[in-house]
Amino acid sequence: MKIILYDEGTADELDVVEIARYLSRKLGKVKIETRGGPFGLDPTPDSILDFAWKIAATKVQEVNHSIPSELEPLYGEIEYEKRRILGKTQAFGVIYEGFRLRRIFSEGIPEKERSLEFVHLIFTNRLLATWDNSNRRYHLRASIYSIPSVISTTGLIEAPARPREYYLLKPQYERLGKDLAELKEIFKGRFIDYGDSRLTEVAKGYAMQAVFYALVGDPFCEDKGCRLYNAHWQEALIFAQLDSGYEFCPRHTDLLGKGVAAHH
Ligand SMILES: [Zn+2]
Repeated sequence: MKIILYDEGTADELDVVEIARYLSRKLGKVKIETRGGPFGLDPTPDSILDFAWKIAATKVQEVNHSIPSELEPLYGEIEYEKRRILGKTQAFGVIYEGFRLRRIFSEGIPEKERSLEFVHLIFTNRLLATWDNSNRRYHLRASIYSIPSVISTTGLIEAPARPREYYLLKPQYERLGKDLAELKEIFKGRFIDYGDSRLTEVAKGYAMQAVFYALVGDPFCEDKGCRLYNAHWQEALIFAQLDSGYEFCPRHTDLLGKGVAAHH
């Protein structure tokens, strides 16, 4: 097995090399490589334009309207995505349809690396959402486990819900024109925020979820203290990734101890 980590605009907030080292420690004799964006080994102006066009067409315009499959992006949107791919701008406030984005990323994987021997894991700072048919709206996602797997740094911050009291107090702060930084101060430590020094540590657990998805088909664990726990709340995420006092539950510790990855 070989794991390839891609960095799609996360360099300012995430230490991908540190995550690679962590995976290497946990998985033993597994080859790990870190790369830049998932846009092919030898991107050309044409291939970048093609990626930019496709990515621009995956933008979620409204959270309660499913985006059509054949969306013609505007010239300005394509230009923006081109700059984004070339690292000349940051994607803030834009939401992308996660499954389609993952498919576009998969097109950048070299032919010879498209096999089950390879685990492709893309860290992106793009905000991802997937459509939920039960309540007919998009939901933000921290990660999508598939081939390739995608972990969103902004998704880790925005997707799992903050404490209920935070949402109760926020409208009051806004109504009174008070500084939201003050509100964040009250809840300090109880959710992961932008520029949070804990983000790399949290992302290690999500990287392991992607690895377990590739190894056993299931990225998650029921144990609230295990790093494979599928947290829907920030406080649960922080507990599973940082505070539980152990990294993995006995079952997953055992699997790692047996060198499950090395024999894969
Ligand atoms: Zn577990």
